[in-house]
Amino acid sequence: MNIVLFGPPGAGKGTQADYLVKNFSLHKISTGDFLREEINKKTNLGNEIKSFIDKGFFVSDEIINNLITSYLTSKKLFNNIIYDGYPRNVEQAKTLDKMLKKNDQKISCIFTLNVDKETVVKRIMGRIVCSKCASVFNKYFNPPEESNHICGSQYLNTRNDDNEETVVKRFDTYIKETLPILKYYKEHALLREIDGMAHISQINKEIRGIIETLGTWL
Ligand code: AMP
Repeated sequence: MNIVLFGPPGAGKGTQADYLVKNFSLHKISTGDFLREEINKKTNLGNEIKSFIDKGFFVSDEIINNLITSYLTSKKLFNNIIYDGYPRNVEQAKTLDKMLKKNDQKISCIFTLNVDKETVVKRIMGRIVCSKCASVFNKYFNPPEESNHICGSQYLNTRNDDNEETVVKRFDTYIKETLPILKYYKEHALLREIDGMAHISQINKEIRGIIETLGTWL
């Protein structure tokens, strides 16, 4: 099955994707993580990507499509992917549809996590990411502890683009560019709206329950 997770920055997509990877043995495709990896390599492409992300803008569709094509055509990942942060605009959604069709795959379900702007800012300002295992924590709502994180505190960092000014711009970009996709996907009747303000475990339970009810036809 292929799952798509939508939501503004800080909605908890990465956290929920990590749970679903474990719940259903899926492979996570997070375009944000791939872009940050490229930035860390300090290549020309990485520097170009950084200049967009630091301003709170989207990276070009061309860069994104080049990044994800190899994953979509990978036999290992075939029909077993969770998309976190992709597609992010209608053009990317159309490209994904075309590529899935060409590779004999389809989207099984689309979840959108609804969270308000104030909560987004609060969550992102507390976000901590592990550079070793890529798990995402929050110093207020979901702190890293021995029970949920084994890599050690030396790998824990904040993201460069997690400052208040950029977060507000990213939220506005989401409303302008990404929300129109939901209208596009409503026609697929596969779209499920989730209250992203609920507790992490409650959200996971709800999404898991929906995926399990879809199980027979996936
Ligand atoms: P994320 O970690 O998903 O919040 O992504 C961090 C930043 O990477 C975003 O604010 C965008 O600038 C960029 N980005 C991630 N995914 C995409 C995408 N599918 N299309 C365009 N830009 C993206």
